[in-house]
Amino acid sequence: MCEDRRRRVKLINIRSRRAVILATGGFEFDEQMKLQFLKVYPTYFLGTPANTGDGIRMALGAGAHLWHMNCCSARLVMKFPDLAVALNPVFGGKGWSSPWRETELATETRGGTEGESHEAPSGVGYIIVDQSGKRYARETFKPHSFYYELTGFDSQNAFYPRVPSYWIFDQRRLDDGPLVRTGSGGAGPAGFYRWSEDNREELEQGWILKGNTVKELAERAGLDPASLAETVHRYNESCKQGRDVDFGRQRLTLVPLDTEPCYAVKLWPGGPNTQGGPQRNSRAQVVRPDGNPVPRLYSAGELGSIYGMLYPAGGGNLAECFAFGRIAGENAGQEDPL
Ligand SMILES: Cc1cc2nc3c(=O)[nH]c(=O)nc-3n(C[C@H](O)[C@H](O)[C@H](O)COP(=O)(O)OP(=O)(O)OC[C@H]3O[C@@H](n4cnc5c(N)ncnc54)[C@H](O)[C@@H]3O)c2cc1C
Repeated sequence: MCEDRRRRVKLINIRSRRAVILATGGFEFDEQMKLQFLKVYPTYFLGTPANTGDGIRMALGAGAHLWHMNCCSARLVMKFPDLAVALNPVFGGKGWSSPWRETELATETRGGTEGESHEAPSGVGYIIVDQSGKRYARETFKPHSFYYELTGFDSQNAFYPRVPSYWIFDQRRLDDGPLVRTGSGGAGPAGFYRWSEDNREELEQGWILKGNTVKELAERAGLDPASLAETVHRYNESCKQGRDVDFGRQRLTLVPLDTEPCYAVKLWPGGPNTQGGPQRNSRAQVVRPDGNPVPRLYSAGELGSIYGMLYPAGGGNLAECFAFGRIAGENAGQEDPL
């Protein structure tokens, strides 16, 4: 037994007679692995900082093949240098009724397609812009694949123009409750940070930028003032017409930005978890590059999840954990004891 003081992890040798099941999560907090494998860097995550890809290194040492290393379930998150973990934004505020309720980007079925509903838009407005101050996608997008919108690289100028992006909103949103999800994650039960009810503390510490006008906000955020003002004007015109000619955002989500002052928060690629790790077969056995199992080695969960490029739906990660946890347990239990 020895102590790794840097990571405060106690190493213990345990003799296993039948098999080992690895379930050490992903590599959400290993900067080198994220840089090597994910499609865009930086990418920040919401869960435990203990997930540093240890199981991946162990499985590699045992001869495993890797899969899904460039995949993650991710979208846009808030990340502040003072905090170890990323936080989940609540874009629409309390009045935002969607199947995803208070959360994030997804309002796929809210209002259906353009012109379908006679209901008036409600709640608060917001847009997401890149570093040129322009919108680049329908913000009300599928929550776990918006990540791919952020991977576009400007090869002429050698940078990712959407990393970071900026969440732009007005006083109505600020007054509508915490900008962050508190039901789960770092500002929730995990307890990494207690976000103020009225967003005032985060405004004071500069996490939320404020401008009395859109142009002033742009200057504070380092965006081009004329470009951001034009973007907001164009978005507000779309709201008046009830039609987003640029990205086809659903009519019921077209709430204008018309209550100054206005605000911005930096957003980064990120989300709950990475998917990559040792490849497993249908018996949850970790396999070698030739497809044969590594003897007595099993895995479950997001350490080499079955999901690749597109995470199918909310709850998919946990379903995977339950299913492969059970399969791995049953099969490992049937190995002959050494
Ligand atoms: C805020 C948030 C919201 C989420 N919401 C949903 C949702 O709504 N639906 C859904 O399906 N999924 C959701 N997920 C994802 C889901 O929680 C994870 O995919 C799932 O918990 C992964 O389980 P796991 O057992 O594979 O890994 P984890 O739950 O991450 O567990 C891995 C464990 O291994 C430990 N560990 C790592 N290295 C070592 C080591 N060397 N030695 C000992 N222990 C080690 C870690 O400390 C950790 O406890 C969410 C995740 C977060 C963070």
